[in-house]
Amino acid sequence: MRLYEFEGKEIFSRYGIRIPRGVVISSPEEISEAIKKIGLPAILKAQVLVGGRGKAGGIRIANSADEASGIAREMLSSEIRGVRVRRLLVEEAVKIAREIYLSITIDRGARKYVILGSLEGGIDIEEIAARKPESIVRIYIDPLIGLRNYHVRALSNSMGFSGELASKLGSIVIGLYRIMIDYDADLVEINPLALTENHDLVALDAKITIDDNALYRHPDLASLLEKDPRDMDEDEVVARKHGFSYVKLDGDIGIMGNGAGLTMASMDLVKLYGGKPASFLDIGGGASRERVKAALGILLKRRDIKSIFINIYGGITRCDEVAMGIVEAMKEAGSDKKIFVRLVGTREEEGRKILVENGIKYFTDDSEAAIEAVRASSR
Ligand code: GDP
Ligand code: MN
Repeated sequence: MRLYEFEGKEIFSRYGIRIPRGVVISSPEEISEAIKKIGLPAILKAQVLVGGRGKAGGIRIANSADEASGIAREMLSSEIRGVRVRRLLVEEAVKIAREIYLSITIDRGARKYVILGSLEGGIDIEEIAARKPESIVRIYIDPLIGLRNYHVRALSNSMGFSGELASKLGSIVIGLYRIMIDYDADLVEINPLALTENHDLVALDAKITIDDNALYRHPDLASLLEKDPRDMDEDEVVARKHGFSYVKLDGDIGIMGNGAGLTMASMDLVKLYGGKPASFLDIGGGASRERVKAALGILLKRRDIKSIFINIYGGITRCDEVAMGIVEAMKEAGSDKKIFVRLVGTREEEGRKILVENGIKYFTDDSEAAIEAVRASSR
């Protein structure tokens, strides 16, 4: 889950990292009030989850109230790289002496956190990493040891900071590390961290991404996500709500199963017989008819899916429940998509009977079901 700049900055501020004064607005009518609070000149920043807003016209400076309202009107009805701008962050303009890059992320290969720092912040860090790799300082942190003073000193020294600035940089790094841990983040990034003309360090941008698998530990963030699904599609939102594991793929055969292993094996079968999976959709164990209905509903809605292979091994899951869920989903969607169901296990006979009565093809052999699904997708 990615946080918006204004959400990230609010967290920064709670962890003692300085940010510019700012107000979030969502309609042009709010701009004059915002300018009264913030003063002039002001920076207007599009709150969209795309990188490089600066280059794409998403960061503008306003020198008068009139100019600000013109820019606000324009930006709030525009798109940045295809994403509608719904909110602006209106901020006091900071006088920048130097733009610094600072982040903490996870180096999975090293199994450590890594602090990245560079005096060449502001523009694409990837570009600098490629062109001038020596200008990026890397400090690795063993998660079992945690961030220590010597890490902080090593960072300051390598970046050429001393005295008061070094201690300011230190407290920012400590803040970022605590955010990483407290929020189960996999990235916290400040780019740029502005060194101001009066020797302060102010975070002008904020990028925080949270490990989705940890969202259950952060109900406040999960509810933010529910209100504003960000870059998730509607079907991903539905899947998350029901707790399905759902990965969207670009093939044309929908695949759904109970249990991750069975679902993956079903994808393998489809590939083996020459088909292209359009989904990995694991509805989990003990799936009730409502859950089956909701899950199949996701696949039936997708126009890019031509056929669907459902692979259910009933243990705790009851085949008759599954069958009823399938029938209800088909009826509700009024869909004519071809579905191929492999259904074995608990209450298998009852389940099959329900499918047959409703004209749905069932199989006991999953290879056969996969072959039929592939054939139907290529017709
Ligand atoms: P990004 O392009 O999406 O990363 O957006 P940023 O928030 O990083 O802003 C891009 C650039 O706008 C920064 O590198 C700064 O040069 C400039 N910028 C942003 N905020 C301010 C500010 O308060 N004052 C000044 N002078 N420049 C700013
Ligand atoms: Mn930035």
